[in-house]
Amino acid sequence: MRRSRFLINTLKETPKEAVVVSHILMLRTCMIKQLASGIYTYMPLALRSLRKIENIIREELDAAGCQELLMPMVQPAELWSESGRWQAYGKELLRFEDRKDNGYCLGPTHEEVITDIARREIRSYRELPVNLYQIQSKFRDEIRPRFGLMRGREFIMKDAYSFDTDEQSCDESYWQMYEAYKRIFTRCGLTFRPVEADSGNIGGSYTHEFHVLAGSGEDEILSCSHCDYAANVERAELKTFEPAAMPDSVPTPEEVSTPAQKTIEAVAGFLGVKPEQCVKTLVYRAGDRIAAAALMGHRELNETTLRNEMGAAEIELVTDAATFQANGLAPGFMGPLDWPKDIPIYVDDEVMAQSSVVTAANKVDTHVKNVVPVAHFNPTKVLTLRAARAGDGCPRCGEGVYESYRGIEVGQVFKLGIKYSESMKAFYLDAEGNERPMVMGCYGIGVSRTMAAAIEQNHDKDGIIWPVQIAPFHVALLNLDIKDEEVVAACEAIESGLALHGVEVLVDDTANRPGPKFKDADLIGMPVQVKVGARSLKQGQVELKVRKTGERRSVALAEAVDEIL
Ligand code: ATP
Ligand code: MG
Ligand code: MG
Ligand code: MG
Repeated sequence: MRRSRFLINTLKETPKEAVVVSHILMLRTCMIKQLASGIYTYMPLALRSLRKIENIIREELDAAGCQELLMPMVQPAELWSESGRWQAYGKELLRFEDRKDNGYCLGPTHEEVITDIARREIRSYRELPVNLYQIQSKFRDEIRPRFGLMRGREFIMKDAYSFDTDEQSCDESYWQMYEAYKRIFTRCGLTFRPVEADSGNIGGSYTHEFHVLAGSGEDEILSCSHCDYAANVERAELKTFEPAAMPDSVPTPEEVSTPAQKTIEAVAGFLGVKPEQCVKTLVYRAGDRIAAAALMGHRELNETTLRNEMGAAEIELVTDAATFQANGLAPGFMGPLDWPKDIPIYVDDEVMAQSSVVTAANKVDTHVKNVVPVAHFNPTKVLTLRAARAGDGCPRCGEGVYESYRGIEVGQVFKLGIKYSESMKAFYLDAEGNERPMVMGCYGIGVSRTMAAAIEQNHDKDGIIWPVQIAPFHVALLNLDIKDEEVVAACEAIESGLALHGVEVLVDDTANRPGPKFKDADLIGMPVQVKVGARSLKQGQVELKVRKTGERRSVALAEAVDEIL
């Protein structure tokens, strides 16, 4: 392919709208063009890489016995009402009406459509298991589309759906896909990690995410230093403990474990009160964790200040009436501003008994949504809802500690069970002639996000460093003297020699000077560069450069092709 015929205009400057590396580099290399917020055209260079990722996915899924189909992107509301998601899905689902006022949506995922196919096509246990997949554009009206292809509104996904007769067979399908995913991301040349995860909007009982490890990842993942347990922080298990009893009196410092004491001191310092004023009945010890300890009534106190400014890990607010009075606060119960409504605020019986006070305060501070009697305080439960973090002991092996990484979620596998087959009546007949719901799994890969993640993980200050398996071209062949016939002939010889072996070459035959050509080749990031210039060609030599290592060497023209292979 001739660069002069290929639609690619590179940019020297960092575009203002981009903040993450993949977005910047995809704009600078003319891979993507934004049409609207979160909606992009994949330009020829990007499409070549996307197709390679797709083909790796196809090969691995076909080898695992899956079948490809292609479902419509536009889906009728009735199907979504059957599953209950027309109501439940929220604003990410882009809904609209046709000219007859029938409701439709753009598919953010395809459980409903595929379940409809299964219930119409599959009758008997003899036809199961089945695993169907497609590669297609999805639409999700993301609240914050950003980072280019990392979080678009329209994006390319591979989604697969398995149908089995029973739980055990479904588990087999699940783990088959899990293994296929490992092969897929390995073949894409990525460093990744499967982690246990939360099932979110899709529902279901069991799930893993696949994360490409990169500092810019939106997710935090924790993995054990000793065993192979790894989980999204949203899901990471904690060691369980017996809930500690509420102390009768103010604990002495010796009674309070160090992190607890630190938290209390931090909170007290922030509020300008003595720690002992803070801790009266407010301390809950749970192992060396603390669910603790702040005075109500301080309006600036919110989760962010507690976490960021005080470095507190686990914070639950607990208070009692006596503490209010002891601190000269007016009767009343006020929560901190911006308190997240899913974090309960525990109050003791005395405060609770003044229900009018609580109600009144709730009226004043409507953000205080979740006032719970302290008797319901269960550190174990609370602590599994809030997050584990680096340094915590591993709950699985008990030997290692959690290490923390940033990850980009490029895929997820779910065991759905019978959530959709029951509500949508996707039944089959078993060997005894009984009707049973098919047991389902679903499996997504963000194809366009995987390409972005590859760049997030593989770049340097000069540009992209493509993993060879998904590089748009394998070789950048730089013609440094386009008017020199021998150089042109040498470039043609190398290009056609490589083509015989399926090596894809982008020949820079533009009139640019050598300097900009080198810079451009580094920016676009093909794994190998070949430089052909008149001067070295007189000695029968061309130069090879490995983009990743920067290693260069001169080789004889006649040997160039073999050297590259
Ligand atoms: P996220 O947590 O990043 O919002 P998700 O969990 O909502 O992703 P899934 O429903 O699991 O996404 O979809 C399967 C895959 O599709 C994801 O693993 C991800 O790689 C990709 N994906 C999801 N949303 C987007 C998006 N807005 N832009 C690009 N890819 C996406
Ligand atoms: Mg999402
Ligand atoms: Mg997710
Ligand atoms: Mg997901």
